[in-house]
Amino acid sequence: MNPFFIIPHHKTDKTTFLMAAYITVVFRVKINLLIIRQLISFFVFYGFFSSVDLCGFSVVIAVLVWFYCHMFRGEITRMTQLNENVDVVVIGGGVVGCAVFRRFTLMGAKTLLLERGGDILSGASKANSAILHTGFDAPTGSLELQCMQAGYEEYLAIREKMNLPLLQTTAIVVAWNEEQLAALPGIVKQAHENGVTDVEQISAADVYLREPKLAEGVLGGVFVPGEYVIDPWSAPLAYVTQAVMHGGKYRFNCEVTNATQDEQGWLLNTRQGSVRTRLVINCAGNHGDLIDGLWRTPDYEIRPRKGQFLVYDKAAAADINAIILPVPTATTKGVLLCRTIFGNMILGPTAEEQTDRDRADVDEAVLKGLIEKGSQMLPTLGQYTVTATYAGLRPATEKKEYRIYHYPQDNWVSVGGIRSTGLTAALGIAAHVEDLYRNHFSELFSAQPPAEVQWPVMPMLSDYQPRDYACSGNGGIICHCELVTRRELEAAFHSAVPPECIGGLRRRTRVMMGRCNGFFCSNQVAEIAGDRLDNTLVVGRVE
Ligand SMILES: Cc1cc2nc3c(=O)[nH]c(=O)nc-3n(C[C@H](O)[C@H](O)[C@H](O)COP(=O)(O)OP(=O)(O)OC[C@H]3O[C@@H](n4cnc5c(N)ncnc54)[C@H](O)[C@@H]3O)c2cc1C
Repeated sequence: MNPFFIIPHHKTDKTTFLMAAYITVVFRVKINLLIIRQLISFFVFYGFFSSVDLCGFSVVIAVLVWFYCHMFRGEITRMTQLNENVDVVVIGGGVVGCAVFRRFTLMGAKTLLLERGGDILSGASKANSAILHTGFDAPTGSLELQCMQAGYEEYLAIREKMNLPLLQTTAIVVAWNEEQLAALPGIVKQAHENGVTDVEQISAADVYLREPKLAEGVLGGVFVPGEYVIDPWSAPLAYVTQAVMHGGKYRFNCEVTNATQDEQGWLLNTRQGSVRTRLVINCAGNHGDLIDGLWRTPDYEIRPRKGQFLVYDKAAAADINAIILPVPTATTKGVLLCRTIFGNMILGPTAEEQTDRDRADVDEAVLKGLIEKGSQMLPTLGQYTVTATYAGLRPATEKKEYRIYHYPQDNWVSVGGIRSTGLTAALGIAAHVEDLYRNHFSELFSAQPPAEVQWPVMPMLSDYQPRDYACSGNGGIICHCELVTRRELEAAFHSAVPPECIGGLRRRTRVMMGRCNGFFCSNQVAEIAGDRLDNTLVVGRVE
């Protein structure tokens, strides 16, 4: 077929057409903004491989399309309205939604992940403590414990294949007064009942042997060897990436606004169009009850609980080894000190009830209170600079437990109330949802798992592992605080799930997340990002 049939007297040959199409596909100009970019590339390549006069024409077309693309972004988005028919829709790209999306895709379902924000991890999952919990202190016999332990095991089993890091910190629950000391045997007992049998009570001397910089006054502790720290962002990204490698689709900026049911299944309306699906899995975190409320009276009520944190400069991380936990009270697990996988130390979180489901603001007075608490545990803390602060909103409910409900008559599963342990439990929750589907629902799709499972190899961002900046050919370091290279930034944009907003780029690479918060590198980052982020990084002169 001659794509330029509108031009008279022109000979186009099939080879040129196929060559241009092939190179366009090979270059995989991401279908993002959108098919248009593919089109531009096609015209450019076509022109290049054909005669000189056609080349001129192609370039003109490409420039016009590019111009249109920039002037009418909104129009273009509307041009690519969502109009899908799938087996399973997962609502919400938090860590839980990402794991469920992966699980159902690997089962062989035709899946679609819909996320309201500009990237995965736009809700609770972007701001946690990043601890991979053993479940030693979880309620015995609970679904939460079951999912945490299954998630923990699966993470350890798959992480090397996905190049996901693990910092084997261990944890110590520290008693600072007699009342807390008296609670330690109960903590050990519960841990053993939960199957975490390597947990043991240790003396104050043992605590100081492991943590010599802790303040005076420690009376004893509980040692938990299996508590680790992971990368809270690469892990869920790996789950989504693996799903995409097996045909799963996703949409960002795609809030689900309505859900109706007819004999063909569910029709979900979103800000980008509609989608038909047989099964809906609601993983909308702090909006979970609202999503269920689109078609039924929800079985739970979300009551967001904020946790604020301080991030200390990398030098501080040398002052502790383990995760330093307080003895929990009936209402809170309390404030911890912990190294991060990125080489910093964090202090937090608080536990503050609020009604707003989206705003996670930090508060100066609260942060000062945290610093005071932290310095009481670790007196050297005052020597170090705070490089960042953040807050996350736990999707808590009116009850403590996970709120996972299945409605087989309506082909709907609601995964709610994944409060404080979702990063650990996500893979276990996904397995549990698969069990619910297999045991209680009629067969909604043919579950044909892939003959061979593919494993994404994620970029290594751990400060405790070799990084790209030490390797040749990396294009130079762009972010000097976090040692992020040009090659890492380019790789993020060419990955299977590229960032579409600056937050997504930061979480994929750590760029602009260091001491200077992007003051030094944002100009170069803007140049590398080009128009690939929905909110261009505006860097320039103040006139
Ligand atoms: C302060 C704090 C510390 C924590 N520490 C740890 C820890 O150390 N270890 C651990 O294992 N866990 C920890 N957690 C818990 C963990 O982060 C949460 O359990 C987990 O993030 C909850 O994930 P989720 O996917 O259920 O919710 P979310 O991450 O909130 O995901 C829900 C997603 O749904 C999207 N959404 C909402 N409405 C719609 C809609 N209408 N259409 C489409 N999308 C929608 C949202 O934008 C969001 O991205 C912590 C949490 C907090 C807040």
